[in-house]
Amino acid sequence: MTRRFVVAGMLHETNTFSPVATPLASFFSRTSALGPQDGPMLTGQRAIDAFGHVNVAFAAFVAAAREAGGEIDVPVYANAAPSAPTDRVAYDTMADAIVEAVKRGCDAVMLDLHGAMVAEGLDDGEAELLRRIRDIAPEVPIAVALDFHANISPALAARADIITGYRTYPHVDMRETGERAAHTLLARLEGRAAPFVIHRWLPMLTHMNQHSPQFQPMKDIMGRARAAEASGEVLNASVFGGFPLADIPFAGLSVVVVADGEAGRERGESLADELAEQAWQRREEFIFRLEPMATTIARAKTATAFPVVLADHSNNTASGGSVDTMESIEEVLHQGLEGVVAGPICDPIAVQTMIEAGVGRRITLAVGGRTDMPSIGRKGRPLTLTGTVRAITDGEFTITGPMMTGARVSAGRTAVLDTGTMQLVVSERRIEPADLGVFTHCGIDPLRARYLLIHSRQHFRAGFEPIAREILMVAGPGVCSSDYSQFPFERVTRPIYPLDPQMRLER
Ligand SMILES: [Zn+2]
Repeated sequence: MTRRFVVAGMLHETNTFSPVATPLASFFSRTSALGPQDGPMLTGQRAIDAFGHVNVAFAAFVAAAREAGGEIDVPVYANAAPSAPTDRVAYDTMADAIVEAVKRGCDAVMLDLHGAMVAEGLDDGEAELLRRIRDIAPEVPIAVALDFHANISPALAARADIITGYRTYPHVDMRETGERAAHTLLARLEGRAAPFVIHRWLPMLTHMNQHSPQFQPMKDIMGRARAAEASGEVLNASVFGGFPLADIPFAGLSVVVVADGEAGRERGESLADELAEQAWQRREEFIFRLEPMATTIARAKTATAFPVVLADHSNNTASGGSVDTMESIEEVLHQGLEGVVAGPICDPIAVQTMIEAGVGRRITLAVGGRTDMPSIGRKGRPLTLTGTVRAITDGEFTITGPMMTGARVSAGRTAVLDTGTMQLVVSERRIEPADLGVFTHCGIDPLRARYLLIHSRQHFRAGFEPIAREILMVAGPGVCSSDYSQFPFERVTRPIYPLDPQMRLER
């Protein structure tokens, strides 16, 4: 008998301090895949056509279902850039579509989720989705792929049979994460494994600049998880850095081990304890030390090997930023750096002004600073610039770098302003500069720049680390800052490290 698989994606990393709204359309606007024939959501074969070949977990799920000779029902593939809590109607629309597909009957569910989704009135978007599925299908096997930045609650862990997480940041193993979950799921369907989830959560808000498995201490900790999975000690093992910019009770680092039946329980529990213990013991190493922005820019000015990447990490797309703060750009202009390529800054008004002026025209205009950030008490502050409009594009390109390889993305209409010392890319939509395409698609060769000033925290490394001769982290202002003292945390579990630096762990 042909097996039926429900395969869906509903991804959002919610920065509860973000000023950027999250309506239903934002789940489909990053890509140009949603056409007029689709209605409000990307579903079915159209979703498979758009993302079935992309480096995302969803693609692995589709491939696994096909290999198993199954029928595939795709109620939705939705993936929004990080921002404020999801509009509740949007959440219910997507969740209802998934639940309806499960109601039609299925042998297994494969979900490509983020793990840090907050919706209006719902702290735990993923656990609520699984609750609704479990209400109608209590026994159906559910495999879930999550982002490294998932904030995993006990409720989510209890409702899934299999959970795997990205083990890289920048996330270049999204598809592999889906393959790992699907592999375990198929073993379960064929009676070769009896997977169940073991979960540990730690009261730790790690610094995102410091918790990548690319660096210590996560390199060691994730390395141990990888080795345990590779050797067959457990079915799957993942460590999650967590997403600290979420004022919810279960924000924090966690460990998820998928063990195999009662026979594997002890090994699984012991591995989960070991990984959690390592993370806690090394908690000080997850602290990122901030340097004043002007100091960093002054250091950049003395560089002798180019290009130098200047990563303003406090207001980036991929952590829920508005991507229109101009302070680092102002400082770079003020200190007189030359040969700068900067952006993309999100400012649809400035884009419109440049389009109306036309390529080749010299203009003076206000750029950026359109967004107020009430959560941290900041008003938006545009920067007035004079320059020549060098290019205007539709903002569309295909990702060729290692992160979400193959995805067709859109920054919205995009324009380039040349001030003489800086070429500034301005776009209608927020886009994380994880791929060189953000510049090359508008005719700029990043290799020829002396300085690449971008709003990004870590994902830029996917595309830019290979060409960078030096990388400097720039502490601009914004809702993605590593300075946690400026955020009005009220609902995170207390005590929590490092907000309560002297805390001890209760056992
Ligand atoms: Zn992430």
